[in-house]
Amino acid sequence: MAKIRTRFAPSPTGYMHVGNLRTALYAYLIAKHENGDFILRIEDTDQERFVEGALDIIYNTLKVTGLKHNEGPDIGGPVGPYVQSERTSIYLEYAKGLIEKGEAYYCFCTKERMEEIRSNAEDLKQTPKYDKHCLYLSKEEVESNLAAGIPYVIRQNNPTTGTTTFNDEIYGSISVDNSELDDMILIKSDGFPTYNFANVVDDHLMGITHVVRGSEYLSSSPKYNRLYEAFGWEVPVYVHCPPIMKDAQHKLSKRNGDASFEDLVNKGYLKDAVLNYIALLGWSSGMEKEIFNLNELIEIFNYRNINKSPAIFDDVKLRWMNSEYIKMLPLEEFNELATPYYKQVITKDLDFMKISELMHSRLEILSQIPDIIDLFETLPDYSTEIYVHKKMKTNLQNSLEVLEKILPKFDAITDWNLSVIQDTCMDLVKELEVKNGIVLWPIRTAVSGKPTSPGGAFEIAEILGKDETLKRIKIGIEKLQADQ
Ligand code: GLU
Repeated sequence: MAKIRTRFAPSPTGYMHVGNLRTALYAYLIAKHENGDFILRIEDTDQERFVEGALDIIYNTLKVTGLKHNEGPDIGGPVGPYVQSERTSIYLEYAKGLIEKGEAYYCFCTKERMEEIRSNAEDLKQTPKYDKHCLYLSKEEVESNLAAGIPYVIRQNNPTTGTTTFNDEIYGSISVDNSELDDMILIKSDGFPTYNFANVVDDHLMGITHVVRGSEYLSSSPKYNRLYEAFGWEVPVYVHCPPIMKDAQHKLSKRNGDASFEDLVNKGYLKDAVLNYIALLGWSSGMEKEIFNLNELIEIFNYRNINKSPAIFDDVKLRWMNSEYIKMLPLEEFNELATPYYKQVITKDLDFMKISELMHSRLEILSQIPDIIDLFETLPDYSTEIYVHKKMKTNLQNSLEVLEKILPKFDAITDWNLSVIQDTCMDLVKELEVKNGIVLWPIRTAVSGKPTSPGGAFEIAEILGKDETLKRIKIGIEKLQADQ
C-alpha cells in the first residue's frame, strides 16, 4: 500500500478554532498511525480574509501541541509551494486544461445578471443555480471577450442528468442528482482559485491519500468528485468529521464567542489536556480509559471509529480532564505554569513553591488561582461568622480564647517553620485538652480570612511568615472581641 499522506489545510483566520485543531489532530493521527506523512498547506486564496500574524498562530499551535508536520511552507518539501497564493499559475493552467476538455468554461456574466438569477430563484423558493448561459458562447465570442479584457470567472461544467455518488469513510455512500450540482466557480475574477477548486488540485498534486475535514464540506464533495473524474485522477479517501456543538442547536463557533485553542490556553487549560479532550470529540477508543497522550493516541487511533453524530463540547468534562493533567504535572513544572497567575495578585516576596504544593492537586483550571491565593497578599475583610463551625465545635468564645493563647506562643518562636508551627499548635491542643479542630480552625480562619483556603493553619502561617501571621491573629482577636 502506498504511504499514507494527510494534510492540514487551515486558512489564516487569526485564530485556531477547536474544530480546526481537531481536524489537524485526526489528520495527524491517521498519518502517524501508519507511519505516513502529515503535510501543512496554507489556504490563503481568500485575500480579503487575510489577517496579520495568522500564520504564526498556525505554526505555533502545531508546535506546542506536538503535531509536527513533515512538509510545509516553513520547512519545504517535494511538492511545494505549500501556500496556495504562491500556486495561482498552477490552478489557472489546470482550469484551462478543463476548458479544453469541455469540463469547464469562461463565464463573463455581470454582477447584475448574477443578482437577477439569485433573486429569481428566491422568488421561486429555489436554491440559486447558474444557468450555463456562458457555456453556449461561441469560441469567437469568448476570444473577443478575453481580448477586450472583460472580467471573467471559470466555471465547472457539471452534467444536468444522472447522479454522482461518492463514498465517505464516516458518512458512507452519498448520491446526488446531477441536476442539483451548480456550475461552481473554479477561478475567481481576481485570478485566484476558489477553495473548491484549489483543494482538489492541491490534494492531487501533493499526493494526499486521505482527505480529513469538517462535515460542512460533505455537500460539496460530489462536485469535487466530478473534478477528479474530469481530470482523470484517483479520488482520495474522504474522512469527514462530525460538527462540534455548543449544545443541541448551536455549533461551536468563534462568532458565538467560544473556543479557540488560544482562548482555552489563556483561560488556564493545559495544551495537552485540550488535545486529549478534542481527540474524544467525535471519536472513541472503545476503552474505558480516557486519558491518552499523543503517542498513545497514535497507537490506538482508528479513524473508522469516528462518529457521524455531532459532538457536544462539554466544559465540565474538559475541566475534569484538565484537573487530571494538572495533577500529573511534576511540581516544578506546575510551579512554573502557576507563577504568572500568582504574580497577578501577589507582590510580596513569598515562597511560590510552597504555595504550589498546596495548589497542585486542587485546581480544575489555572485561572482559578488568583481568587484562591489572593489571601496571601492581603487579609480579606471577613466577618467573624466564619469562625463558627459546627463540626469543629468552634464558636466566637472558644475561637477568641484560642487566638489569645496562641499569640504569645507564636511570638516566642524563633525558628519559623512548618514543624515548629505545628508543634506549637498541638501543644496548645494538649494544654486545653480539646479536639484538634477547636484550636486549628480558629487559627486557620484568622490567618486566611476565608471560610476555605488552600492548606490548613500550619501551611498558611508558614508561607505568610511570622510577622504577618501575628498581625492577622491580632486582627482576629480584635474582631472576635468586638463581636462577643
Ligand atoms: N481551508 C479550509 C478551512 O480552513 C480547509 C478545509 C479542508 O481541510 O479541506 O476550513
